[in-house]
Amino acid sequence: MSRFRLQPAPAQEAALAEHCAHARYVWNLAVEQHAHWKPGRKNAPGFAEQCRQLTEARAASPWLAAGSAVVQQQALKDFAQAMANFFGGTHRRPTWRKRGRSEGFRIVAVKTGDVRRLSRNTGEVKIPKVGWVRFRWSRAVPGGAKSYRVTRDRAGRWHVAFAAVPAPIPAPGTGEAVGVDRGVAVSAALSTGELLNVRGLRDTEKARLRRLLRKLARAKRGSRRRARVKTAIARLKAREADRRKDWVEKTSTDLARRFDVIAVEDLKIRAMTRTAKGTRDAPGRNVRQKAGLNRGILAAGWGRLVRRLEHKAPGRVHKVKPRHTSQTCNACKHVARESRESQALFLCVACGHRDNADVNAAKNMRDTAAGHAVTARGGPPSGGPVNREPQPDLPSAA
Ligand SMILES: [Zn+2]
Repeated sequence: MSRFRLQPAPAQEAALAEHCAHARYVWNLAVEQHAHWKPGRKNAPGFAEQCRQLTEARAASPWLAAGSAVVQQQALKDFAQAMANFFGGTHRRPTWRKRGRSEGFRIVAVKTGDVRRLSRNTGEVKIPKVGWVRFRWSRAVPGGAKSYRVTRDRAGRWHVAFAAVPAPIPAPGTGEAVGVDRGVAVSAALSTGELLNVRGLRDTEKARLRRLLRKLARAKRGSRRRARVKTAIARLKAREADRRKDWVEKTSTDLARRFDVIAVEDLKIRAMTRTAKGTRDAPGRNVRQKAGLNRGILAAGWGRLVRRLEHKAPGRVHKVKPRHTSQTCNACKHVARESRESQALFLCVACGHRDNADVNAAKNMRDTAAGHAVTARGGPPSGGPVNREPQPDLPSAA
């Protein structure tokens, strides 16, 4: 992961915050323009039109004009991308950005000399209108980064992330395939039998979080105490998120190095999340049950893992339709919902084969990707959703 802790001087911090304010302002203007748009009306302005409007706005407002045109234009570009993601069905509609939450801006057209190392643990990056800002050189900085994003998290920490798609990792050339099943009890199960887990918060940290949440409920709105508690909570949550990202990087590198072919379930995570919630007119089915499931999937960072695998092992990631994978016996290929003894155990009703349920599913995916299609020999699987398995072909409530 190419994210580094920025260490701006106080004056620089003010300048960075100003960039954030400009980016937020421009983003929110774009949100507003699109909010007024309804089907049947003339198209909401696209990126090119918005850029023209931005030029006008900069001419009219000294506050905007004093800021960086790159920062402001990239905010529009980010918004255009967010809308494209929304229409593509992978993301929610972009919404208002609030001060102090998800603050950040992007800088493009970065030149090689704009990032340099000062000492073993310190580097610096040139930020337009801010100057050279130091960051902690905590790992190798990817070469050839063309852009970077500066963010401020809710705990007030600044980070810089260099956008460089990681170099593909050469395949080992063993012809070996692996199936990776996302689990809820475990983060991922491999067809090799390995069970991988994201390191979340430790028990002591969880207890601390619970304590802080109780404190927050008691603290008076707007009080300084409340702000302090909120910062402490944000710091704990940021730590958890860092560990998750770290796990995804390590796991994806490891898999890309060890196997030629990596089979993963083709899940539309966001679509599933939305189906569970449903809409006002068509409330989702099994909402409560799925809410827990989705939390598990999102917490495990599944979508991020698949994305990184595709970066690191391009052309070697096979997305397998998840139909039957959790109900099929890997030994005899009998398909029966009843074989799924519990969340954790697979016990074939036909041949008595026994395995960890996630590992059995991972093996089926591996076999499918390796070309030995999993053919259903048993009866058709019963229609009802298995407790743990999302049914991707449910009608979408979107
Ligand atoms: Zn069997």
